[in-house]
Amino acid sequence: MRVAVAGLEYEGNSLSLRIERRADFERMGIFEGAALLGAAAGKQLALAGAIETLLAGGAALRPIYWTKGGAGGHVEDAFFAEAMARIVEGIADAGPLEGVYLAMHGAMICAVEKDPEGAVLAALRARIGPRVPIAVSLDLHAHVTPRMAAAADIIVGYETYPHVDAHRTGARAAALLLRAMRGEIRPVTRIRKYNAILPVLGGATDAGAPMAAVAAAARAIEAAGHALSVSYFPVQPWLDMADVGITGLAVTDGDAAAAEGVAQTILDAMWTRRHAFELPAMTPDQAVRAALLREGRVLLVDAPDSIGGGASGDSPALLAALLAQAPQVESALCLVDPAAVQRAASSGEGAEARFELGAWQDRRWFAPVPVTARVERLCDGLFTYRGGPVAGATGRLGPSAVLRAGGVRILATTHAVYEHLDEHYAACGIDIGACRLVSFKNLMNYRKLLGPGTSFIALDGPGATPLRLQDVAWKQRRRPFWPADDTPEPPPLPASA
Ligand SMILES: [Zn+2]
Repeated sequence: MRVAVAGLEYEGNSLSLRIERRADFERMGIFEGAALLGAAAGKQLALAGAIETLLAGGAALRPIYWTKGGAGGHVEDAFFAEAMARIVEGIADAGPLEGVYLAMHGAMICAVEKDPEGAVLAALRARIGPRVPIAVSLDLHAHVTPRMAAAADIIVGYETYPHVDAHRTGARAAALLLRAMRGEIRPVTRIRKYNAILPVLGGATDAGAPMAAVAAAARAIEAAGHALSVSYFPVQPWLDMADVGITGLAVTDGDAAAAEGVAQTILDAMWTRRHAFELPAMTPDQAVRAALLREGRVLLVDAPDSIGGGASGDSPALLAALLAQAPQVESALCLVDPAAVQRAASSGEGAEARFELGAWQDRRWFAPVPVTARVERLCDGLFTYRGGPVAGATGRLGPSAVLRAGGVRILATTHAVYEHLDEHYAACGIDIGACRLVSFKNLMNYRKLLGPGTSFIALDGPGATPLRLQDVAWKQRRRPFWPADDTPEPPPLPASA
């Protein structure tokens, strides 16, 4: 059983000014041929789970091409075209195949191509014909399109957020692929969609959260034998396209009508809980003041500037609040600002200098904040992820500087990098255990740091990843949609190609 293995993972954001180019993907790694197997080995990636499962099932692998680029704005069309050609032509040229597995995020966007995963899958299907089964693993925030569902036989999404099950998701997709290749099942995938988007911050699958009930419903349907796999996609909400909305998906054994029914059931499980996804949030000034009234350490979640959601990571809104409300309180904050890093490097460690911090790339909402700070440390910005799907991989902040103004320590970095826990702070010499206030620019991983003595406050406000989705000046999104409109009947989106 010869199986081609490939992947293209990236999460886009229409509101972000970031443009990801080849160099940005190269920082995380672009792997071709056998190098792909080495890159996946020992990792908690979906790709790794699939590879291990396929090998255990006796498959002979044809590794083709894989890259995983994190989150940002648009991917340059030229790089996407190159990656797509490598994947589609590489698989088509790999000789006779019995199956194909692809690791994808599912929410990539390019300047021109708004459904890159659908384009890859459709082109691949056209090249290899209808008989070779294609299995795909996706992130839970995928924007699943009818074109994707039509071209793939098997689609399986992450079950958890925080994403702790990427490896298992790849393994599940591969296990279904093996069964299809052996002729044990004839998988069909169907989706159902509503014109609704949900705040990412409220989308945890932890006990008690609305998505936990949706996840439980999906697992119960699988356990009852009504579907081979059930997935739910609350979707990356900051995509300004008319066809973006929450999606239910089911894979059944040859029964398209049953797959549609199950997809509809799980979609409705999200829709009926839509109000519960909204969490309280505060302006940066309110948040800092409220945090100082609490015992213990408080994590300030800079939700509107979430690098994990594709934002620039350069909003100085919280910095301004810390300097105004808590200038002597020990705190740590991370900010993308290559110009500040360069100024710190030319000043030298121990020097004091005047900085204009933040709004380095994105000045739509904020201006740089003037700060006199001491250059505490210069560092290379390399760290190792201790958990999550990329555990063990190297994070590259680029040249970075730790600046101190009173009690406020600012980690200025060159690149916007997905943060997991505090690996990035620790690598640059900041011990968050000694801080009363610590800022994070992700929407979920910070939860792994919560516990006795550590609470969090989410920030509200403008940015490329705002909480209030109804306030965004959408250009392409059509009314009515949730949460701008609360219609008695859910507004549907097309589910077939
Ligand atoms: Zn995700």
